[in-house]
Amino acid sequence: MDFSFSPEEERFRQELRAWLKENLPPGWGTPAFTMPKGDERIAFLRDWQRRLYEGGYLGLSWPKEYGGRGASMVELAIFNEEMARVEAPGPLNILGLSMAGPTIIVHGTEEQKKRYLPKILSCEEIWCQGFSEPGAGSDVAAIRTRAELKGDEFIVNGQKVWTSLAHIADWCMLLVRTDPDAPKHRGLSYILVDMHSPGITVRPLRQMTGEAEFNEVFFEDVRVPRANLLGELNQGWRVALTTLMNERGTASFGTQARFRIIYDNLVELAKKSTVNGRPAIQDPLIRQQLAQHFIDVELLKYNCFRNFTRLLRGGTPGPEGSILKLWWSELNQRMQETALALQGPYSQLMRESPWVIEGGRWQYNFLRSRGNTIEAGTSEIQRNIIAERVLGMPKGR
Ligand SMILES: Cc1cc2nc3c(=O)[nH]c(=O)nc-3n(C[C@H](O)[C@H](O)[C@H](O)COP(=O)(O)OP(=O)(O)OC[C@H]3O[C@@H](n4cnc5c(N)ncnc54)[C@H](O)[C@@H]3O)c2cc1C
Repeated sequence: MDFSFSPEEERFRQELRAWLKENLPPGWGTPAFTMPKGDERIAFLRDWQRRLYEGGYLGLSWPKEYGGRGASMVELAIFNEEMARVEAPGPLNILGLSMAGPTIIVHGTEEQKKRYLPKILSCEEIWCQGFSEPGAGSDVAAIRTRAELKGDEFIVNGQKVWTSLAHIADWCMLLVRTDPDAPKHRGLSYILVDMHSPGITVRPLRQMTGEAEFNEVFFEDVRVPRANLLGELNQGWRVALTTLMNERGTASFGTQARFRIIYDNLVELAKKSTVNGRPAIQDPLIRQQLAQHFIDVELLKYNCFRNFTRLLRGGTPGPEGSILKLWWSELNQRMQETALALQGPYSQLMRESPWVIEGGRWQYNFLRSRGNTIEAGTSEIQRNIIAERVLGMPKGR
């Protein structure tokens, strides 16, 4: 594989670096900057996404006619790497950009593409993903939320859960059952639902980080125009797979760059921490642990490159995305655990404490990392996919 970039690609990187320098909020990356909380945080992130869009840096690989830049996959990779390098805030409409948009590009009608894609990019409309239900998580195809077609409208009744961003979302990628008599994968449809429709109730759920990032969503006789069907009636499983593959498979250059930064920060923390009265970085056991993390981050990097090469050769994200998802989510948990071990009893302090180390970011990330091996499919499910669909092993019973 050739790891070098063309002069045009290098120019793109330099322009982006200059743009980021100019446009990142004042004091970004230093203690002088504090991320606003609550509604102000949402407003800040919305504004940041709009800036990225106006700068021409969102929807890089999307077609130009829908507001994208029509750039190459390599430029997209460079963008993700540079954003991770300066630890820039991510765009607010992350589910719209990473899942709804790519799914609409593949399965949408011309009218749907024109209607939804530009507003995903500009952050005028925020998206959420309504797949999981109380009785259907890993086995998504077991969903029971019903949509009955009456005339030119669907009438939706049921409940979704763990719906990230539903409390601020304008639209939902909703997986519903439209034929209860068909085998479970064949009676599903994928509809685009206006979250401001009458009959929708959103109840936030608080996580152990203290944040309420996801929600329960209830649908009671919600009317959705038939025109909002994405793909064909009762063929929603195919459309849902596109969303799921994008959810698991798009991690690439940005992910490996972000993990390298977590690793470098961990080494800095080890230099500042003490074990048995001497710098932790000199402790043989800590050194072994750091060396193992370094190897694991390198493995992540080469797997990202392999995935990326497949995409460059015209492939869409496939089941191999599960290898990356499994690896990064479990590696993140291991590295966050090392960070807390390095802090000793200080690891019990949270960000409100004046004695907390590095603003409590490791504590927050440690708690948030527990969800990594559940969201976008649990580790067990990723192992099943790798075994059956990548390695071709026989299905378990
Ligand atoms: C932070 C976060 C954000 C999320 N955001 C969203 C969202 O925006 N939209 C959305 O739709 N969902 C979202 N989810 C839900 C997520 O997709 C589900 O939690 C996940 O798919 C697991 O489903 P479940 O929680 O129902 O667990 P279950 O499916 O009930 O699984 C319970 C346990 O059984 C194991 N298990 C289940 N089946 C098998 C099997 N066949 N073989 C081996 N082991 C198995 C699982 O690995 C797990 O350990 C989010 C979850 C989290 C943590």
